[in-house]
Amino acid sequence: MKVRLNEDTEVVRMVKEGLEARGGYCPCVREISEDTKCMCKEFREQIADPDFEGYCHCMLYYKEK
Ligand code: SF4
Repeated sequence: MKVRLNEDTEVVRMVKEGLEARGGYCPCVREISEDTKCMCKEFREQIADPDFEGYCHCMLYYKEK
């Protein structure tokens, strides 16, 4: 299992800007809570799921199996 940044540096730049503007909370959802602080609960659960491979919701990270 490996988690890496999206290979598209422009996506990474945009999502990081969004995260900065939101104080570290996910720029892709409205809710501000511990669950939406990057790395958000959704992606933490995807990392823990041995069957999941793919991007986080914002596409900042990619999890390889
Ligand atoms: S892990 Fe991805 S989807 Fe989750 S908050 Fe961070 S950038 Fe957004």
